[in-house]
Amino acid sequence: MPKKITRRDFINGVSVAAAGAAVMDPKAVWAEMAKGQPTTPGATGYYPPTRTGLRGNHEGTYDVAHALAWNGESPASYSALDEEYDLVVVGTGISGLSAAYFYQREAGQDKRILLLDNHDDFGGHAKRNEFHFEGQMLVSGGGSGNFQDPGKYSPEAKQLLTEVGLDVEVIRKGQLPRGFAAEMDAPMGMYNDAATYGKDSVVTGAWLPAWQGMGNYQELINALPLPENERKKLIGFVDGSRPLEKPLPKGDLLKTLKRMPYQTFAVEHVGLSKQTTRLFDPYVRVTHCTGTDSISIMEGIKTGLPGLAVLGDEGMAALQSSGFAFEGVDFVWAPDGNATITRQLVRRLIPSVAPGQTVEDLVTARFDYSQLDRPDHPVRLRLNSTVTRILNESDGAVSVAYVQDGKPVEVKAKHCIFAGFNGMTPHVCPQLPEEQKKNASYGVKSPLLLAHVLIRKARPFLEAGGQVNMCPNSYFALVTTGMASKIGDYETPMGPDDPLLVYLMTSPPVENNGSQSASDLYRLARHQLYATPFEEFETKIIEQLSGLFANTDFDADRDIEAITLNRWSHGYAYAYMDLWDPEFPEGQAPHELGRKPLGNISFAGSDTEARAYADGAMDAAWRAVQERVRA
Ligand SMILES: Cc1cc2nc3c(=O)[nH]c(=O)nc-3n(C[C@H](O)[C@H](O)[C@H](O)COP(=O)(O)OP(=O)(O)OC[C@H]3O[C@@H](n4cnc5c(N)ncnc54)[C@H](O)[C@@H]3O)c2cc1C
Repeated sequence: MPKKITRRDFINGVSVAAAGAAVMDPKAVWAEMAKGQPTTPGATGYYPPTRTGLRGNHEGTYDVAHALAWNGESPASYSALDEEYDLVVVGTGISGLSAAYFYQREAGQDKRILLLDNHDDFGGHAKRNEFHFEGQMLVSGGGSGNFQDPGKYSPEAKQLLTEVGLDVEVIRKGQLPRGFAAEMDAPMGMYNDAATYGKDSVVTGAWLPAWQGMGNYQELINALPLPENERKKLIGFVDGSRPLEKPLPKGDLLKTLKRMPYQTFAVEHVGLSKQTTRLFDPYVRVTHCTGTDSISIMEGIKTGLPGLAVLGDEGMAALQSSGFAFEGVDFVWAPDGNATITRQLVRRLIPSVAPGQTVEDLVTARFDYSQLDRPDHPVRLRLNSTVTRILNESDGAVSVAYVQDGKPVEVKAKHCIFAGFNGMTPHVCPQLPEEQKKNASYGVKSPLLLAHVLIRKARPFLEAGGQVNMCPNSYFALVTTGMASKIGDYETPMGPDDPLLVYLMTSPPVENNGSQSASDLYRLARHQLYATPFEEFETKIIEQLSGLFANTDFDADRDIEAITLNRWSHGYAYAYMDLWDPEFPEGQAPHELGRKPLGNISFAGSDTEARAYADGAMDAAWRAVQERVRA
């Protein structure tokens, strides 16, 4: 039975507290070390990025919201706080913080803004995970990871980044070739686990080109522990040398590509076994948060799965007619992922929170959480506060009611921007018309897990195989080295005997029973996440890493120093899917109808753009602020 890592978590927390000792009274330091971190942001030593164990949507963030959403329960009354604001923003993710920034810029620096969030840290999905080990600091993004195609961001999003001093090119230059940022042709591992194949093994090579019948694909596929017949079929599928066992229905090929599940295509038409199709799952599970049973053939091909070769020119023409193009994706990773955006926005909005201004000094800037919510600042950021009701009052004001540490309170503002989840919108905005409530909550957010495991030495990982390992039959779909950077005074340790952050990502695997939509699967998977205690996740992590590193001298007891598991029960914004959604006319999609402003309330957040990316969050903020300043 693998040991639990809890004790080391505590040691990790202590080393962090000790790192801050120079600026604290020694007695205060030891007091903090004795009792762990304080829970109120104003207290000395409150620093959530170093917290380990279950993070993301951590315990205490959802009790109030679920009581409201599931049982319709909310406080009978709220005490009015003697605070008035020009704007209250609900949600401190990229969208909420961008909304505060845009509003200050458009309406005036003197405007009083309150930001509220139900977590113990700001950033929403764009939060920082920070570890300290033997004098070295390692940071990573706890959720939202990279600038994806930043060249294609809207002018407003680009301008925001420039104005706050986030130079994407500086971040790009600092990026070191690790994890997803490794060279495109860097070897990847395909982990074949003992539970499925009787023995642990990793087949390492250029798997992404192999799925398109390129490189040494035959050698790679022949090294997999599959029956010979399956290997032959797979080779014939990826290079197109074997015709379909059963032709696709005659007629509109594009319609078939959009309406047939990829797994049905691979099993019934290509002739692969269901077990073999699991090899295609890992990337699908972290992009669409389902298996190949719940995405279309077209979505599978767009995700990089095989199919183009066997579909031939006719298939390519059909795909191109719907705008499909082979384009590379440009990823830029900051050391702490998109927490770089949220930290820089907070530092801009509340300058006393941390020294410095540039992207170079941001990563090592220690944030002082006691500065977040001070009455003498025009912008205040209040954590651990779940908003339960937003009302347009008859006097033209908006009242925003929330529960902080069990206390129901209420503030007044001229405007409110709700930058939380669309699923919460109907519950917190009871004045919305019923049809709008239905539209707002149409899309179900997909659940995700992102774990960081600090191991004492990188060697086992570097010896095991690829920088990125696909794990088709395991709980975590992808296991990679964490991303690495050299920027300002920060440099990720890179040597084989240096500590390493291992990054595990997945959405809980739920098989489609044939009558479920992706949204049904997301709801089921979310409930699985709530029902799974940290210890069970920890055991899964230890077992999976022990199997993956089976051919090295990895010893979980000795080598794992700490685990931070970011549980995103409400993860990516819902993006419409071929199999489950009709094609909505422009302006008539549920997210567009659901985000219409109501009185002095506007709606932001990536959900309102149906776009699970940082730029979607910024664009939503810009739209909502435009609505407010023009109102
Ligand atoms: C694991 C993961 C990886 C991702 N990777 C990338 C990536 O690499 N690149 C990329 O561009 N995007 C990525 N994304 C998408 C990510 O969602 C966006 O980049 C962005 O962070 C979304 O910001 P947001 O402000 O819209 O929402 P969020 O970050 O979800 O922020 C909303 C905040 O509002 C809070 N809130 C909601 N309701 C209430 C309430 N009633 N009261 C108080 N607070 C409330 C929420 O708890 C949350 O803190 C990823 C997402 C996840 C989950």
